[in-house]
Amino acid sequence: MGRDEAIEAIKRVVGPKGYIEAEADMKPYTEGWIVTHKGRSPLVVRPAGTEEVAAVVKICADAKLPITPQGGHTGLCGGATPTGGILLSLNRMNRIREIDPVNYTMTVDAGCVLEELQKAADAADRYFPLSLAAEGSCTIGGNLSTNAGGTNTLRYGNARDLCFGIEVVLPDGTVWDGLKRLRKDNTGYDLRGMFMGAEGTLGIITGAVLKLYPKPRQIAATWLAVPGAAAALELLSRARAASGDSVETFEFIPREAVEMYLRHIPQAADPLATKYPFYVLMEIATFAAEGVDVTALTEALLEKAAEDGLVTDATIAQSEAQRDKLWHIRESLPEASRREGRAVHLDMAVPIAKLPDFYARAPQIAEKICPGARAWGFGHFGDGNLHYAVRPPAGMAHPDFMEKHGKPMEYAMLDLVAELKGSFSAEHGIGFEKLADMTRYKAPVELRLMKSLKASLDPDGIMNPGKVLG
Ligand SMILES: Cc1cc2nc3c(=O)[nH]c(=O)nc-3n(C[C@H](O)[C@H](O)[C@H](O)COP(=O)(O)OP(=O)(O)OC[C@H]3O[C@@H](n4cnc5c(N)ncnc54)[C@H](O)[C@@H]3O)c2cc1C
Repeated sequence: MGRDEAIEAIKRVVGPKGYIEAEADMKPYTEGWIVTHKGRSPLVVRPAGTEEVAAVVKICADAKLPITPQGGHTGLCGGATPTGGILLSLNRMNRIREIDPVNYTMTVDAGCVLEELQKAADAADRYFPLSLAAEGSCTIGGNLSTNAGGTNTLRYGNARDLCFGIEVVLPDGTVWDGLKRLRKDNTGYDLRGMFMGAEGTLGIITGAVLKLYPKPRQIAATWLAVPGAAAALELLSRARAASGDSVETFEFIPREAVEMYLRHIPQAADPLATKYPFYVLMEIATFAAEGVDVTALTEALLEKAAEDGLVTDATIAQSEAQRDKLWHIRESLPEASRREGRAVHLDMAVPIAKLPDFYARAPQIAEKICPGARAWGFGHFGDGNLHYAVRPPAGMAHPDFMEKHGKPMEYAMLDLVAELKGSFSAEHGIGFEKLADMTRYKAPVELRLMKSLKASLDPDGIMNPGKVLG
């Protein structure tokens, strides 16, 4: 079957509601949140269910027509940017198939928006803890395919850890129903795990069984000032021990990030009257309504930490509205950062004990490459992942900085990450943006295993070509 014939056949399978071919209407699908992520596609296909996805993939397999899967299109590495084949959006597949409160699971279509899943779990008196600033748009299929992290990874793990089973359409159109709701299943290789972080290069996730938790009954949200990364690390360690490992969030935010937030975000407000060099947004939450008072526990923890010089100031949210205000700062930082202008951006992780080392050495390295460059990062300190950026010195234009110093700066930072046994991409994935980093930093044996897996599942290379492995 030729390409044109295949496209006509796909249109017949999904019907008029299931595709878009006018170029102007395709823009939300071909242009991403990052302005440089612009792709092209002859057809955006929006199947209504798994059977339609399978029929579309079968046609593509016969015609060797490439497919780029897409969820909410919030990915930051260009994984969902189409490269000439069809763009397959899961956004019509947004049904919650079943909530099982006794089994603490939820079975859902892959196109469900994350925030809708959080709300559905909440309505069933349960909790789905995956949380990230893009949760109003990103989908669970995208979250699993990028193995998303977010602000609660410290306690609950990544998307991969919150999933018991998946349903996948393989590159030849076969449907694998792996929607298991089991906590124990020792029957061979972890096939589910292969698709976590595969970014659509091994198949299309159409459904998932998600892990639920009891709803937290008490939450203490605190905005606190700390003298530096080493003090933050010690505080985290104490907070985990004092709370019975109930630290839900531990986000590190330097003053520069707060200034950036105040510069770019409407209704931005500084939570503390005095300015400090570093802050932490910490939440401790318990599933038990009684027996422990998390606010009293947090106050006691902070009092002792202040005596020991680990905390210099703090405010504990007294209401849900105050808590929202604290979160507004953290959740606005990606948008504020985008508005700030082009920079060297890293989504790096190191073992958390190495964070102070990284935080001390990275600016010194940046200074050697470009004197005056502004190097700092914010983010998921509790799991070792910072969104670290190096920006031009005052007076230097962003494009000039990037042209002259962009690549050397990025590699110098990532070499430090590698030296500290970290990761060059902690939660955003590879897409097409980080292909060169894969070759530079991934072990050859890992690349060889990944390539052989790809070749065995997708011998014609139709699933999201040009992503992850190139
Ligand atoms: C403001 C902002 C904040 C963010 N914060 C975080 C954060 O804290 N933590 C974090 O991890 N990420 C974060 N991200 C990145 C992004 O939201 C996540 O990567 C998210 O998981 C992507 O989901 P999506 O549905 O938008 O996927 P898309 O962008 O549509 O796709 C991402 C990748 O997954 C593939 N894919 C999508 N759906 C499927 C499917 N059903 N089957 C197979 N492959 C599929 C695509 O082909 C692509 O390769 C943030 C993004 C923004 C814009």
